[in-house]
Amino acid sequence: MRKNIVAGNWKMNNDLAETSELLNHLKMQLVKEPTAEVYVAPSYVSLYHAFQTLKDTPVKVAAQNMHFAKSGAHTGEVSAQMLMSTGVNTVILGHSERRAQFGETDEILAKKVTAAIEAGMEVIFCFGEELEERKGDKHFDVVKSQLENAIFHLSKEDWKNVILAYEPVWAIGTGETASPEQAQEVHAYVRKLVADKYDSETAENVSILYGGSVKPDNAKEIFGKEDVDGGLIGGASLKAIDFLAIVNAFE
Ligand code: 13P
Repeated sequence: MRKNIVAGNWKMNNDLAETSELLNHLKMQLVKEPTAEVYVAPSYVSLYHAFQTLKDTPVKVAAQNMHFAKSGAHTGEVSAQMLMSTGVNTVILGHSERRAQFGETDEILAKKVTAAIEAGMEVIFCFGEELEERKGDKHFDVVKSQLENAIFHLSKEDWKNVILAYEPVWAIGTGETASPEQAQEVHAYVRKLVADKYDSETAENVSILYGGSVKPDNAKEIFGKEDVDGGLIGGASLKAIDFLAIVNAFE
């Protein structure tokens, strides 16, 4: 059976001291056996510290990005091997902010996905349509091509290390959440795409998270949908009390 997962994407927020404070709050307040797997993704500079702080807890640490090369002349970049040397075995790839602000194309993302999986990492792969695409009723086509172009080259075996995150761009940081029905509709569609490309077992086992303005007061309703297996949380993951309320929002 697939897992329920709640992951906090801290984006470019919190310096080392602030990260440390938030990690300690989470560590103190998290119940011993949460009903979801919990991940936090601080900035690169805090990853090692986060791993050290959380290593005796069930909380996993993820990176927000990585380069596809193993090493070399790529000033400012970080490889899968470097992440793993800090204890971090999960990476978020394909976030819409990486696509929009840093020119990450499907082609680049396909290389990153391959590099991460080959290194033995787990990938949280993000995809989702923009507002104009939703208005033009193109969201299914957009999501399909994002998956086909950047992650459907993996083998069935590789999918044991894949988590999907549907993040409609118009719902990120805007306070405008997709309705539970809108999320469910896309998640069910994505699961069907995975079943058609691989098989029903792969589709049933992959966790599909929803991201975009998830808050303590809407998490339960969204997570209650059959094909929504948790959330990728931005703003609300920066406050321990809110994040933990979302972690505990499963029935
Ligand atoms: P918000 O929860 O702030 O809308 O961000 C969602 C997100 O981008 C998580 O990756």
